[in-house]
Amino acid sequence: MAGLPTVAPRPAIPPERHGARLEAVREELRATGAAGLLVGPGAELRYLAGYHAMALERLTLLVVPRDGEATLVVPRLEREPALGCPAAAAGLVRVRSWEETEDPFGLVARALPEARRPGGAGARLLVGDRLWATFVLRLLDTFPGARLGLASSALRALRMRKDAEELALLRAAAHAADRVVAGIAAGRLIGRSELDVAQEIGQRLVAEGHERAEAAIVGSGPNSASPHHGASERIIEAADAVVLDFGGSLGGYVSDMTRTLWVTGPAEVAPDPAFVAIYDTVRAAHAAALAAVRPGVPCEAVDEAARVVIEAAGHGPHFVHRTGHGIGLEVHEDPYIVAGNTEPLERGMTFSVEPGIYLEGRYGARLEDIVACAADGPDVLNEAPRGLWVVRG
Ligand code: ZN
Ligand code: ZN
Repeated sequence: MAGLPTVAPRPAIPPERHGARLEAVREELRATGAAGLLVGPGAELRYLAGYHAMALERLTLLVVPRDGEATLVVPRLEREPALGCPAAAAGLVRVRSWEETEDPFGLVARALPEARRPGGAGARLLVGDRLWATFVLRLLDTFPGARLGLASSALRALRMRKDAEELALLRAAAHAADRVVAGIAAGRLIGRSELDVAQEIGQRLVAEGHERAEAAIVGSGPNSASPHHGASERIIEAADAVVLDFGGSLGGYVSDMTRTLWVTGPAEVAPDPAFVAIYDTVRAAHAAALAAVRPGVPCEAVDEAARVVIEAAGHGPHFVHRTGHGIGLEVHEDPYIVAGNTEPLERGMTFSVEPGIYLEGRYGARLEDIVACAADGPDVLNEAPRGLWVVRG
């Protein structure tokens, strides 16, 4: 089959990993005296059971008791996909489905008998951080007197440290995004709207193996100075700076990268020297942040490393956001690379490094890569060139 492009096999999370995660949760529940952990659709459910469910008004809830078997409560019409999820298929969780007119909270109560036992009133329960209030209130009815905490208190330390397969997925997602930015930079930009380019980014992410693309930021000209601009009807012109910030998910794990382009147009309009100076400062700040990454270094020190470079160039007030955010199953998760976060970096933590400078009304620049903290320093997952991308457009 020589000559055909080969698609690398996608890394996968082995089912036993879900068993180890569920056991780690039980250990945490025992250590903190909580009776159980209850999480709905979203990253927590995907992390523990590998189950991708839609968040709907019909209850889907994974119940992990301190001791005993975990139960996945699902609507009858989602029984088949639930039974097929990695944790259920491996016999790590049992699936209990509720009929359309049944009260699902009866199943939830049976899945956590300890919290209903006489004398069990006031049991401590850890509920999913994004579980809808409508379900949380029903849980309080189901377990009278329950004291609620957040599931993240048990999950955040686990989720922050990525295992080998999670790192492989994040790397595959980053490399796919690298190819997307190269494709966009090589194509036509002048005369197209930001929205049109954003749409192409989404299509390319899917073509590169992402199952889902998030709405991309395409900030051209003065819009590049707005960090969370989105994409508009503005038509890209020669002598525009263009900030491309985009990502999606591949195998459930997220990509997120930013590159800044300068569009010369056919007249070859070179980037204005002031813009080049700004970009060079951003790049130096990015390099300084990377150089600070190693186990034991507080997250805020990585932010500080980037910030001092930008402040020294007189642009402190124009760097209006934190240096980065953790990334994994979610695009923003712990640990945050921000002043005040004294959490020490550990091997396997993954996060963005994305300093930027924004001159309102003129232009802005940002450079974003996803980085893993390795034993001896940073392991940068993105490989696309980090200079200013001067393109004809
Ligand atoms: Zn981004
Ligand atoms: Zn980001």
